[in-house]
Amino acid sequence: MKLNTIKTLGRSDFVNMGPIELRQPIPTKDIENIDPFILLHHYGPYEINERNNPFDLGPHPHRGFEPITFLLQGEQLHRDSLGNESVVKAGDVQWTTSGRGIIHSEGPTKAFVKQGGVLEGVQLWLNLPSEKKMIPAAYQHVENDTFNVINSEDDKLSIQIIAGKLNETFGKIKTQTPVNVYMISAEEGGKHTIDIAKGHNALVYLIEGNVNINENNRLTLNENQLIEFNTDGDGFTIEATEGSKLLFLSGEPFNEKVTSWGPYVMNTQTEIMEALRDYQQGKMGFLER
Ligand code: MN
Repeated sequence: MKLNTIKTLGRSDFVNMGPIELRQPIPTKDIENIDPFILLHHYGPYEINERNNPFDLGPHPHRGFEPITFLLQGEQLHRDSLGNESVVKAGDVQWTTSGRGIIHSEGPTKAFVKQGGVLEGVQLWLNLPSEKKMIPAAYQHVENDTFNVINSEDDKLSIQIIAGKLNETFGKIKTQTPVNVYMISAEEGGKHTIDIAKGHNALVYLIEGNVNINENNRLTLNENQLIEFNTDGDGFTIEATEGSKLLFLSGEPFNEKVTSWGPYVMNTQTEIMEALRDYQQGKMGFLER
């Protein structure tokens, strides 16, 4: 197998979002986006309790892309203008196709805040191509233990197939575009070789731990670092030097102009103005506070 070489080793500086500090591996000053992935936020781990609960996001709109949440620790309540209301637990994935418009709210459940505990998650913004930006909105919630899993030969590394496929194992999420999304967990010493689909832009983000990537031309990836691969190979190898958790993303690039403003990701300024107007006219739905 020819291993994909590394294009960029990215940093994940803290950014402020209201009262919250969170890590933002995409975008950075070095990486504008990794088409079709336009934003990656890693929030927490935060200690949440009744005196400290800054992570309660009220109703807000989206258009033109897919906001996806991987909840790592804690418990959140999701509500949206399609009428969905569900409690999301650690390990669950929420895949929202905002399309022409949705309004949603999320935050730790009342019971979780009362009891107190650690909240942590990753949010990804996956772009939609121009011909799909105005499709009807949809919401998928998949529970942690229902995903298909591939285990390494040494049994020290497991790959949860969230979306797309790896070899002939498929993800549970129905996707709009060709993407592969895996959550990888490894114990110290766990080793595996992972295929990257032809023509896909690919990255790994190390949520926690420490791993070596590509055994022959080794690069050590430290906690909260991201690597973007070149599209010149068939995959990469991974070896965990301690207990580790990683998010792998790959997708076919759209090669379209991206114009984003606040919660909207469109192709042109005019479409952004239309989104602002449509939201104000109630065309993206309604959600009670
Ligand atoms: Mn949102």
